Amino acid sequence: MKDFEHIESIYWVFTQLCNDKCDHCYNMSGPQGSRISEEDCLAIIENMPKKVDRMILSGGEPLAEKKKLYLILDQLKAKYGDETQIMLQTNGDLLTGEILDQLIAKGVTRFDIASIDRYHKKAGGRLMELADLFESRGVNGDEKDPLVKKDNYLHSYPLSWGYWGASEEMWLGGNWPRGRAFQKNIWLKNPDHNFCSILSGGIGFLSGGDEIPQEISIQLWKINPCCPGTKEALGDARSERVSEVLAALSGNPIFEKINEGNPLAMGESIGVSEEHAKKRCGELKSVCLWCDEFFDQHFDLKTMAKK
Ligand code: SF4
Ligand code: SF4
Repeated sequence: MKDFEHIESIYWVFTQLCNDKCDHCYNMSGPQGSRISEEDCLAIIENMPKKVDRMILSGGEPLAEKKKLYLILDQLKAKYGDETQIMLQTNGDLLTGEILDQLIAKGVTRFDIASIDRYHKKAGGRLMELADLFESRGVNGDEKDPLVKKDNYLHSYPLSWGYWGASEEMWLGGNWPRGRAFQKNIWLKNPDHNFCSILSGGIGFLSGGDEIPQEISIQLWKINPCCPGTKEALGDARSERVSEVLAALSGNPIFEKINEGNPLAMGESIGVSEEHAKKRCGELKSVCLWCDEFFDQHFDLKTMAKK
């Protein structure tokens, strides 16, 4: 049986506070964005698996909650030592030389500036300034592409940074039908685009794969198989061990189909045909909206029972 006390990658949105308020933001981050307490953050770290190969800290804007970020970094160091690659995803707006020095001292080895697109306030205008800042601290900028392939990050890097943004060419291939992107009607309406089968989707969340790591996301405290997030959380990382939540889902045919990146087939074991799923996905224009409907109408995530 798989040991869920070792997981390759966790994407943790520990805050939805942000200095920006982008139209396409999938988790409604902004100046009024949701936050969790320091105590909750410490409880979540306590409940994380014993071994994690990489941890991506994201938001919201992590630097909008700098004190909490530093506490988290200290706690991760205390728990994992140098065995976990710590990556920070930031819009870069609040980054200064002094803060960069602190982040490096506290163990961050990879910086991703995820704001180089038309949606963000500065629309990439700070890129050259940031490039100079990273260079001044010896942070390597040769690895600019998003770190998609497993081989690119599951080994120890020297300091590196990269940049990207929400553009149609990016690996996500469009905005999820979530948060402000949904409200503003700028989500990708394409039932043939399977978000679930690419990194950030549900694929591999239980098992990983040859090319992509086993990755889950934790949205504040909500344990999800993917970044868009299922209709309800799979578990609460403040009070449940992540490994136990995953172990309970492992072997369940519904979640194994998500693990395969094939949510259209996830209802087969409870009598919801793939044909029906395809039809509804076509009408809803998104595989993630089909997923929402499935957990609304056919399967209860709270009781883990057929509706
Ligand atoms: S997309 Fe990023 S920068 Fe923009 S509001 Fe959301 S978290 Fe903030
Ligand atoms: S289909 Fe469901 S599990 Fe897959 S990425 Fe979308 S919301 Fe996540």
